[in-house]
Amino acid sequence: MRHPQTRAVHPPVTEPVGSSPMGVPLYQGHLFSFDAADDLAAAFHDPGETFFYARMGNPTVRSLERAVTELEGGAGALATASGMGAISTVLMGLLRSGDHVIAQSALYGGTFALFQDLAERWGVDVTFIPGDDPAEVPDALRPTTRLLYLETVANPTTHVTDLPAFTEAVRGTDVLTVVDNTFAPLLCAPIEHGVDVVVHSTTKYLSGHGDVIGGVAVFADGDVHKRVWSHSAELGAVADPFAAWLTVRGMATMPLRVARQSASALDIAGRLAAHPSVTRVHYPGLPDHPQHEVARRLLPDGCGGVLAFELTGGRDAGRTFSEAVRLIALGPSLGHVSTLVMHPASTSHRQMDAASLAAAGISEGTVRLSVGLEHPDDLWSDIDQALAKSAAG
Ligand SMILES: *Cc1c(COP(=O)(O)O)cnc(C)c1O
Repeated sequence: MRHPQTRAVHPPVTEPVGSSPMGVPLYQGHLFSFDAADDLAAAFHDPGETFFYARMGNPTVRSLERAVTELEGGAGALATASGMGAISTVLMGLLRSGDHVIAQSALYGGTFALFQDLAERWGVDVTFIPGDDPAEVPDALRPTTRLLYLETVANPTTHVTDLPAFTEAVRGTDVLTVVDNTFAPLLCAPIEHGVDVVVHSTTKYLSGHGDVIGGVAVFADGDVHKRVWSHSAELGAVADPFAAWLTVRGMATMPLRVARQSASALDIAGRLAAHPSVTRVHYPGLPDHPQHEVARRLLPDGCGGVLAFELTGGRDAGRTFSEAVRLIALGPSLGHVSTLVMHPASTSHRQMDAASLAAAGISEGTVRLSVGLEHPDDLWSDIDQALAKSAAG
């Protein structure tokens, strides 16, 4: 018998025999051992096929990658430590200095900051376009253009980009289209519309319960996946197995959550639009939304849980409203089971100056709501009393 110290380091490992686990098992370990030296050597040689070190792959993380590959209809996926991890891994994996990117101006704040950094420190030129008309693309195109970067539904204005029309605008060039689909999982599958790379913050709808920070990139083409995967092994912003496990578990209920959140958001958007203190509601499901017709084509099953609105009282009223809610929580993020409220101009979009804010369609008083799973009548009671307080000043 070996000594207790030795046995403590080498406990027996139990694997199921004669039965299979229900659901995805959690392999939290970062390393795997081998019987044959040749097998370990082969794993180093062709990483990704055999698990040996978790920065290059882990079975739980791979289960998430396969689930999201199926969800988005891609050839493969790469799970990352956060949504920004996915976006920076993709952009840095596909771009080099001297390259040019065309990006829509209504962007997630962190992505906008990353593009500024890429321009200032890494020599990647970025042209921002409104994203309203595909004719903007040929005007911005240069011989050095490598990427077209879009968001299905943009934060917080809920601008909807006509993905089939924009991918058509770069057809026949070697420009790859990257789309952030964080706001519309299940509702839209951008690869079906000709998109090359889809990114998600799995922190939001995919995990869904506010207990994960994570991201994923899905690739229509296996070679693009390989290129970004090699960079990912260097950058190291890969998903932790436990976060991946929580995300796969959350995805089981995503169809129910997203359907309910979309239905409730449409209901709340309609009630807000009829309220005298509200000057404007941004929700693609409302007939007066600028891209309502695009949304009917691109998001036929619902427009997601996020909406924004503007109050007659401007910035002060927006801030008062966000503090006056009782059931709804004042906090960042979206896609949570709980309803959340935020004031973008002072928080998520604080990096933007007045001109960039205006270009992104955000005013000082814009309030964003991420509708959760509470009963819509309870949500409306809370919103109604907060609107009364914000109108009173
Ligand atoms: C939250 C979010 C991100 C960033 O994701 P993290 O997980 O916070 O890094 C990127 N894009 C959109 C649209 C988001 O909502």
